[in-house]
Amino acid sequence: MVSVKNSEQLAIMRKAGQITGEAILVARDAIREGVSTKELDTRIREYIEKCGAKPTFLGYGGFPGSACISINDEIIHGIPRKDRILQEGDIVKIDVGACYHGFNGDSANTFGVGRISDEAARLIEVTRESFFRGVSEAKAGNRIGDIGSAVFEYATSFGYGVVRKYVGHGVGAELHEDPEVPNFGTRGRGQRLFPGMTSAIEPMINAGTFNVKELSDGWTVKTADGSLSAHYEHTVAITDGEPVLLTKVE
Ligand code: MG
Ligand code: MG
Repeated sequence: MVSVKNSEQLAIMRKAGQITGEAILVARDAIREGVSTKELDTRIREYIEKCGAKPTFLGYGGFPGSACISINDEIIHGIPRKDRILQEGDIVKIDVGACYHGFNGDSANTFGVGRISDEAARLIEVTRESFFRGVSEAKAGNRIGDIGSAVFEYATSFGYGVVRKYVGHGVGAELHEDPEVPNFGTRGRGQRLFPGMTSAIEPMINAGTFNVKELSDGWTVKTADGSLSAHYEHTVAITDGEPVLLTKVE
């Protein structure tokens, strides 16, 4: 069932989104060679708690971290670890959720560690732009397929693989609500969008194949061919006018 948020609930989601977005910036500012993913996770948790919110991911389905931190060919759901140390040239995906007064924000971004390759920089930029192509379709009266096809057409025009097995989703009182928001689809198909819907739009784009493999740690998802992957996500509110990015803070 698709939940509709009223204006009071949207105001709380805006605050949850702000905390989520700021927590990602706290992590971004701590990224450098030699830092562990556990240290980034701790900074994120401390920031969210300082804001009077809770890290949504901590304990979600048994997840052991406050953020998912995934490096290079890891796509999503990387577990923060003390022995996972950032190296120059890595690309790091930080995926954060914060729950404030019962409502969640969900956002992710990809950052380079020091100097990164031109190939990695292009992948990050195309992933970000594919998100905005999708968001430009996130308007009342359009359909879910309009978002996914816009993301897909843009990313695949660069020869990139668009992850299919994992998709965006509604966000609200629950981290994952209906409807699913795939990064592929057919224009004019799928759930119709209406004001008060809040969704995580989150392209996961691979430099190579779209196929994935899941690691034996039960969480980490990697590209099947070892190619780099980038991720960009915001929680988006559908309105009568332009979509509002609830987790975007700069
Ligand atoms: Mg996320
Ligand atoms: Mg999400």
